[in-house]
Formats: sequence, C-alpha cells, structure tokens
Amino acid sequence: MSARSQEKSLLREVWDALSFSEIRTAMRVVLKHMFVKPVTFQYPREKRTIPDAHRGALGLLRYDDGAERCVGCDLCEAACPSRCIKVVSAENPDRPLSRVATEFYIDITKCVFCGYCVEACPVNALAMTKMYEYSTADKRELIFDKKKLYEVGEQHIEDAKRYLYAHNQEKNDADSRDYRYKFPHQVAALTPPHDS
Ligand code: SF4
Ligand code: SF4
Repeated sequence: MSARSQEKSLLREVWDALSFSEIRTAMRVVLKHMFVKPVTFQYPREKRTIPDAHRGALGLLRYDDGAERCVGCDLCEAACPSRCIKVVSAENPDRPLSRVATEFYIDITKCVFCGYCVEACPVNALAMTKMYEYSTADKRELIFDKKKLYEVGEQHIEDAKRYLYAHNQEKNDADSRDYRYKFPHQVAALTPPHDS
C-alpha cells in the first residue's frame, strides 16, 4: 500500500471514530426494523398455524362406533426404520377370526417422524397429529403405550383425519365413509340389491 493510501485510510478511520459511524449504522438498522412487521412468534403465547400434512406425535384411531381400528397386523412395526414400534396381538374375543393389538408401544424418543408406519397400516389405524408439546424431564413418559396412543388419537382426531386426507390415505367423501373398513358382509348389507 502506498503512503498516500495509508494516509487516506487513517483519515477515514479517524473520521469514523469522531462521527460515531458504527452507532449511526446500528441506529439506521434499528429504525428500519421499527416499521417492519415482525416475523417472530412470541411462543408459547403465540402459536403458528400448523399445516395438515405436519408430522407430529402419533396416535391410534377408533371407528366412529368406538371400535379400535388396529388389527394387530404388525405391518407398522415392520415398516419402521427406527425400530421403535412394538405390537403384541391376539385373537379378538368380540369378533372371531379377527385379531386385535393387546399391547402397542411407540418409543417417541427414537421416532424420526417419517410417517412410514402410517403409510404401512392397511386400516389407517395410525395417524400423525399436530401435537408437538410433549417435552418432559422423564424419558420414560415418551414411550407411548396403547392407552396413551388412543388418548392422543382421541384428543387430536380431527387433525389425524386431516393428516390422512392430506397424504391421500383416506378420502373425505361419503362413499369412503360408508364402505371403507367394513367387513364384506357389512358392505353387502349396505349395497342396494341389483335389479334382476
Ligand atoms: S414415524 Fe417413522 S420412525 Fe416414527 S414410529 Fe413411524 S415409522 Fe417409526
Ligand atoms: S396400527 Fe395398523 S399396521 Fe400397525 S398393527 Fe395396527 S393395524 Fe397393523
């Protein structure tokens, strides 16, 4: 650097120091942002709108008549890449030849919220909800058992249905509501007889 440029640089530094240039720059930024709408949310007082496809805590669902949808087939357990699902099933005493999950555990601490278990379920018994506030000091509370999973499903049933609609796993139309998840003899009862 030449002597002249060194002199200019020194003069600029002296001028900046004397004119408080850094404070002026900072004040310019502050003033600019005083008139801009803030993008931050005052969580937990303010909450974001969560999209329907959001992958929050998992819940188990029931049919409208209160019957458990889950048939204990283990497909969700097989699909889970984190191996955090455990299903124990047995024959359903109320419905011969069908099965039901007697125990169901999901270790939420291992879940990566991929949604594969929901996709694998043949009867849409599992769905993800918009529930995300479940932090705890006791890790054991994050192993959701069957009771807890049905509680989550019941508390967030509308979000769970929206999740299934958003992921095209369940249609929100009258035909689907009438015919899906029915056993063949129930579908036959619902079907009007053909004209002979
Ligand atoms: S969302 Fe993914 S990681 Fe979590 S339980 Fe389901 S399959 Fe396993
Ligand atoms: S939740 Fe679905 S996939 Fe998992 S055991 Fe129950 S019926 Fe099978």
